[in-house]
Amino acid sequence: MKETYAKIAFQWLNAGLHVCAPALCHGCNNLLDYRETWICKLCSERFQPSSDPKCQRCAARVGPNLDTVNGCVVCKNDHFYFEKVVSLGFYQDQYKDEILRIKNSRDEPLARTLGNLLGKYIVKNSLFEPDLITCVPVHWWKRLLKGYNQTEAIATGVSDVLKITFANSILRKNRHTSEQSGLLPTARRKNLRDAFSCTAKESIKGKRILLVDDVLTTGTTANQVAKVLVSAGAKKVIVAVIARSFGR
Ligand SMILES: [Zn+2]
Ligand SMILES: [Zn+2]
Repeated sequence: MKETYAKIAFQWLNAGLHVCAPALCHGCNNLLDYRETWICKLCSERFQPSSDPKCQRCAARVGPNLDTVNGCVVCKNDHFYFEKVVSLGFYQDQYKDEILRIKNSRDEPLARTLGNLLGKYIVKNSLFEPDLITCVPVHWWKRLLKGYNQTEAIATGVSDVLKITFANSILRKNRHTSEQSGLLPTARRKNLRDAFSCTAKESIKGKRILLVDDVLTTGTTANQVAKVLVSAGAKKVIVAVIARSFGR
């Protein structure tokens, strides 16, 4: 009975707050109903995880009924330091628009909301129970110029749902690197050679780590970071992204 009273009180408080300071949807900026938090019903439907078949290893789009436990035509020749990639969807339409939005403007609430959705997707499908969550780091200078790192905000959103520590400072990007897009695979690897390091080896020994990024294209960046984590003693690394792109 006590719980019922508490629930009613919370609903009244929430409705009162909504009248005094109406909240806006982080997806479309429209007014939220007092029963909605973070995003409206329409946006939450818009961001539903894609039901199209994905490779179980690299999350690339594949044809129906294919066995991809050991990879697909896109990834079967790649050596990954991570075990697999989980993603909400593909880098097109709504996901592409929102990823560009959080990349090009300081939209921390939207990035965190997308992280919440990614976290819920991982929990609902029992995809992974990590010991730690971390994210692909950016160079400190880039973060300072931009004022935030969207991948950190996504990882915070995932951490909110999974109730697992977001270990933001275990990785460091040692130097500024050129954009990976447009580079050939060998040049991509060369561009990132020794670009990342682990600053807290003791705290990741034997740990299962969820590595968060916004989008995965060829997987070179995530793989370089996963290599650093595994070399430092991590037991297992799984990559979680909002969207999987089509690049090779
Ligand atoms: Zn909305
Ligand atoms: Zn694959």
